[in-house]
Amino acid sequence: MDDTSQYQFRFEAIGTIESPYREKFGIPRQSGLAPAARGRLIMLPPYDRPEAFEGLETASHLWLLFVFHQIDAATWHPRVRPPRLGGNKRVGVFATRSGFRPNPIGLSVVKLDGIRCDKAGVSLDISGLDLLDGTPVLDIKPYIPYADALPEARSAIAPEPPDKRLAVRFDAKAEAVISVLGEGETLRRLIEETLTLDPRPAYKGEADGRAYGMKLQGWDVRWRLAGKGMVLVTDILGCGQPP
Ligand code: SAH
Repeated sequence: MDDTSQYQFRFEAIGTIESPYREKFGIPRQSGLAPAARGRLIMLPPYDRPEAFEGLETASHLWLLFVFHQIDAATWHPRVRPPRLGGNKRVGVFATRSGFRPNPIGLSVVKLDGIRCDKAGVSLDISGLDLLDGTPVLDIKPYIPYADALPEARSAIAPEPPDKRLAVRFDAKAEAVISVLGEGETLRRLIEETLTLDPRPAYKGEADGRAYGMKLQGWDVRWRLAGKGMVLVTDILGCGQPP
């Protein structure tokens, strides 16, 4: 054992996230902002034993500790530019929730919608996700309101949920896709709750003619800004994988 061994730890993923967000672009910047973002935490063996979840059904919400697996830890810098500050002001990494940190560990509160135990193992139905599909999860803890919700707590960097909300409209082509889908209204809500948060980089203003696309479930959702404070969903295409 060398001197540094007491400071080094090896953790293993206990499960992985199944999320409608198939790419980083467009994911809400915190959990709970899009309640329609529903997914699953699929437990991996040997952590998929039903006994390990006994009593968890009494919790309405969970803390998930996860790895920002699509961020290269080697890229961390002492200062970062959080999107909440417009993307041009730097603050210390430890003053932010940025994923670009020395140990790329994230922390999200999600709603627990159900626990499934069957022959295939254990999985948790969760919603309000800000997590990429495939995110490795290190730990699960129940959210404890008396200890974890502090009404007097303050954060000047992110004082309130983002107040800017865009109106989301669907043009005829997008509407036609939604209308033939069995789960069309669920997809509509997910798109609305995601795009209303304006996923564009913070420096992009109202005069932005660019066409954007984001992968949501098995769909490639195409959209652009259309006038002040409005997003127009122009098309919803299959991405060659089952939705
Ligand atoms: N609630 C968490 C995450 C905040 S940052 C925390 O406070 O620690 C949220 C951003 O992380 C999202 O906008 C998304 O782009 C990014 N993200 C989510 N899962 C990720 C993953 N597995 N790898 C890299 N980035 C991820």
